[in-house]
Amino acid sequence: MNEPLYGTPHAHGPLLGPLSPPLVRSTTAGQPDAETLRAMGAGERPGEFYQRLGHQNGRAFESLVASHEGADGAVAFASGMAAISGAMAAHLATGDRVLVAEEIYGGTSAFATTDLVRFGVRVDRFSALDLDGLRAQLQRPAKFVVFESPINPTLRVVDIAAVAKLARAAGALTLFDGTFAPPPVQWALRLGVDLVAHSATKFYGGHSDVLAGVVAGRHELLGPIEAWRRRTGAVLAPDPAWLLLRSWPTLLLRLQAQQEAALVLARGLADEVRAGRLVEVSYPGLPGDRDHELARRQMGGGGCVVTVEVAGGLPGARRAFDRLQRIARAPSLGGVESLATLPAFTTHASLTPAQRRTAGIADGLMRIAVGLEGADVLLGDVRQALQG
Ligand code: PLP
Repeated sequence: MNEPLYGTPHAHGPLLGPLSPPLVRSTTAGQPDAETLRAMGAGERPGEFYQRLGHQNGRAFESLVASHEGADGAVAFASGMAAISGAMAAHLATGDRVLVAEEIYGGTSAFATTDLVRFGVRVDRFSALDLDGLRAQLQRPAKFVVFESPINPTLRVVDIAAVAKLARAAGALTLFDGTFAPPPVQWALRLGVDLVAHSATKFYGGHSDVLAGVVAGRHELLGPIEAWRRRTGAVLAPDPAWLLLRSWPTLLLRLQAQQEAALVLARGLADEVRAGRLVEVSYPGLPGDRDHELARRQMGGGGCVVTVEVAGGLPGARRAFDRLQRIARAPSLGGVESLATLPAFTTHASLTPAQRRTAGIADGLMRIAVGLEGADVLLGDVRQALQG
């Protein structure tokens, strides 16, 4: 976390007017004459024209994300799923093949297996934790390899550089879902992926009050994605874009504080394992974690989510969940409020207990997305919840 803190966003040169960016809701922009209208309509002149084609609040957010991620550019969407689905759809055609990790966000999985398949794209699955399996899958041409790390909810860590290298050698593009760990926790583009997508609803928004998505990468890959967004109208609206600009100056401070608290929480909860109230604490920032060495190589810390397995399986996890007093019972992550969920009832509810066990998702898992209440408060809350 040695990167400089960002100040008030001024992505388009020094601000001459208001210090904080104005919110511009206008759906259209006045043009001075016919020649300007012609040039803008023909795409020869940049600037404000019509909101679906791009607008200043959205572009300011995109510039910040691009510089933060170390990308040529970024394209912002109305949600994380619009960004992920758009990034794939913009580059795929009937007959193409994509490799989608088994361990991926459910919405991404559903889009691939329902919609891409409907349009004649072949979708094959692989485990992002099994590089030999991926190598074998890449013997046949694939257009995309889609994966995430740390994996939800187990917080297993994927060797991002190794996956990117295998895919590149086989001529496949990598689309990485970086939602769980934006820079500086993890620089996915530096590790070699071609495109990184985020649910900006999470850390970029940071306050559980904005739904947004963004994809960043090289210009030549973003061009078709931006064109897809224009044609489908999946653009991020000015109001959420403005909220993202509002959240930006505190991004690094929030990530730093949330990550520090997550480490303290994970460490403290190790006592609960010794006491038999927890079966396991998963957090890649913990020296004892099975993926700690890999996390140390590719992450700037262990991230802001801690997953615990409560003793007593699902009944045990339910009891602890219901007893939480400070941590809110709600899906999502990345906000200033700490949130807890039970994967057996949410992300993995459609699997049978046996299928969940095969996928490494114990029924007693409780995922805690760490916010800004302070590590002592959170540790105290989980401890009292486990006493029940
Ligand atoms: N990717 C991950 C890892 C997520 O957790 C989520 C949402 O929870 C998404 C993508 C989808 O993002 P959104 O809800 O903004 O569409």
